[in-house]
Amino acid sequence: RPARLPVALSANAYEVVVGSGLLPRAAGLLSPHLPSRRVAIVSDASVAALHLPVLRAGLQEGGFDIRAEVTVPPGEGSKRLSMLEEVLEGILAAGADRKTSVIALGGGVVGDLAGFAAAVALRGMPFVQIPTTLLAQVDSSVGGKTGVNLRAGKNLAGAFHQPRIVLADTDTLATLPARELRAGWGEVAKHGLLQGPLWEWCEACGPAAMAGDPEALRHAVLESCRLKSGVVVADEREEAPEGGRALLNLGHTFAHALEAECGYDGTLLHGEAVAVGLGLAASLSARLGHCAQEWPGRVMEHLAAVGLPARIQDLPRGFSAEALLGRMRKDKKVRDGAMRFVLLRGAGEAFTTADVPAEAVEALLRDEG
Ligand code: NAD
Ligand code: ZN
Repeated sequence: RPARLPVALSANAYEVVVGSGLLPRAAGLLSPHLPSRRVAIVSDASVAALHLPVLRAGLQEGGFDIRAEVTVPPGEGSKRLSMLEEVLEGILAAGADRKTSVIALGGGVVGDLAGFAAAVALRGMPFVQIPTTLLAQVDSSVGGKTGVNLRAGKNLAGAFHQPRIVLADTDTLATLPARELRAGWGEVAKHGLLQGPLWEWCEACGPAAMAGDPEALRHAVLESCRLKSGVVVADEREEAPEGGRALLNLGHTFAHALEAECGYDGTLLHGEAVAVGLGLAASLSARLGHCAQEWPGRVMEHLAAVGLPARIQDLPRGFSAEALLGRMRKDKKVRDGAMRFVLLRGAGEAFTTADVPAEAVEALLRDEG
């Protein structure tokens, strides 16, 4: 039996369903939540080849009318405005109306792109997330952020558009390349550090999850969605001045700088950059006296145990401290020129602060880099 997690947003409450065997049963799971049985499915070519036949058969058996199937090339390159146009034309060419639901079947790229298309097509079509990467199941499919990249930066054009329902079928993770699975764990570990007891579970069961243990994966997805949806319900549009959704940026000030330095060339997956960012955030917290000195070692030991990079030295190229600091000062989350960090007092005790001396960050990057 799948677990059902309510996301109690004031305007529209919806459910995240986590379990195995959900794709073949999609018709029954979706129909109570959608205005009609008309759907348009958006996927990428790799995911479509592996998982679309099962979803299609399940929906057709349940009497669904699949108006369109739109497939984009796999990869971050598809998250752009010209591809948004392709997806919109593909959805609307077949005569979709406002009661036709857009289903995203894929990772975070497909979810962000299809979700943005659903937000703007006909000024808003119902949207369903069927995430197929660990990263999308534990992070991007929950929270309602959708969008594409611009030359000016990542995710700079987008909309908040909450799904009617999220189906996280953990069976789909069996076909995910091992490196993509591990990268998703970077966000699970982040959620563990934000939540507390989940961190200890990560330390105990992370290696089993990365070996493909279905029960461990199910638990990781469910508890991550529980943590993230709780944060999102409390701060739907990232408006809380302290805490709130900003806490989800733990490790991300560093991660964004590392990714930007690589020019998003695929050297680093987002979750790998986040893993290194978590190690750096723990180190910075310890250096500033916010947490016990054992924390950085403990965080890095766990990341290494699941096969993730834990420090800058673990990455396939070097990074200059000055260049990274320059990137961090330009991060879109920088307000009034002050870099904002999420730091830790311990697991389950994260806080946001702009009160971090640049010299401390630079010294850390120099020592760790
Ligand atoms: P992705 O969607 O590119 O998927 C990674 C790769 O795995 C792709 O090549 C894809 O074809 C393949 N794949 C997906 N599912 C598969 C499966 N079950 N079996 C085999 N192959 C499979 O990347 P991602 O890591 O899922 O998502 C990254 C994106 O998510 C980024 O664009 C990021 O900005 C976005 N994101 C959004 C949010 C949000 O809140 N909206 C949060 C975090 C990240
Ligand atoms: Zn992230």
